[in-house]
Amino acid sequence: MFNKLLGLFSKDIGIDLGTANTLVYVKGQGIVINEPSVVAINKKTGQVLAIGNEAKKMVGRTPAYIVASRPLIEGVISDFEVTEQMLKYFIDKVHRKTFAIFPRPRVVIGIPSGVTEVEKKAVHDATINAGARIAFLIEEPMAAAIGARLPVQEARGNVIVDIGGGTTEVAVISLGGIVASKSLRIAGDKLNEDIIRYARDEFNLLLGEKTAEDIKIAVGSAFKLNETLETPMRGRDLITGLPKEVIVNDGQIKDALARSVGIITANIKQTIEETPPELVADIMERGIFLTGGGSLLRGLDQLVAQITQMPVKITEDPLTTVVRGTGIVLEGIESLREVLVETQTQKPPR
Ligand code: ADP
Ligand code: MG
Repeated sequence: MFNKLLGLFSKDIGIDLGTANTLVYVKGQGIVINEPSVVAINKKTGQVLAIGNEAKKMVGRTPAYIVASRPLIEGVISDFEVTEQMLKYFIDKVHRKTFAIFPRPRVVIGIPSGVTEVEKKAVHDATINAGARIAFLIEEPMAAAIGARLPVQEARGNVIVDIGGGTTEVAVISLGGIVASKSLRIAGDKLNEDIIRYARDEFNLLLGEKTAEDIKIAVGSAFKLNETLETPMRGRDLITGLPKEVIVNDGQIKDALARSVGIITANIKQTIEETPPELVADIMERGIFLTGGGSLLRGLDQLVAQITQMPVKITEDPLTTVVRGTGIVLEGIESLREVLVETQTQKPPR
């Protein structure tokens, strides 16, 4: 009863706690925060110095004892306390900005599919400790499918592939539930590492992570391109210790990424093979939907289409699909109740 009264006044928020980026959606307002999931920590004292954009700016420009930590390595909370502080910072920021006089918000927060009960409880508790009045968990592929406006509550097969920083999630959704899924720890970060390794093995060149990501975005691809793309690759020569630059093209980077990309596509194919035949017919008709930042890799859609022999589409604005999904859930929490995950501590509202 009290909660119901509070609900009339508080503004609810949806959170995509991604391994690379955290986004926050406020009911009635849209996306208000879109910042990297990075926390800058003073290693000497353990103190958190900055979070989000501020923390990312500090990286590499501060003394060595200030380190940037990504508390959600590989999609699960690797550092509970830091994650909680990060969530609290984002929730407070929204709360202050938009509804300081209102009671604490209800929060819908995405979790990777297939996390354990312990991990679910960790996210739930972190959200509550960070200032939420109630925390509802939603599996990220479900939020992504809702964000992509797929008819998740119908008895039809929907395939969503969310390629983020730390994890790739492949899920088949029907009747408001996930009927088949796979979560792998090969995604955008791994592709950056592949480029770092390539530069070292091929040119004795040591690249920073940010440089590798820039190269991936500039010329990376999964499929043969129609035109040649080139970019300078700058780093430190491992032999002389001096700065060095080499020019690389899309073909070289495609080869460097091929193994990881191959694992991603093989898992998509395998998930579809494990899907009940009736749903496969729907998928053939509707196609496979790619989302998350990693879906922007050039030609990935073409490669997935070739390997699965199914139509493939990239969702509109793939970096915001999950948080928009949590927003749609917030706006219609009553009708979408079934898509939320129950945790042992609390059930969705009646
Ligand atoms: P998460 O949900 O894990 O926070 P995101 O969906 O925000 O991840 O995606 C972040 C990943 O997308 C990063 O690895 C980033 O390098 C990658 N990415 C962003 N834009 C592109 C692009 N144009 N091409 C390839 N990868 C991209
Ligand atoms: Mg994500």
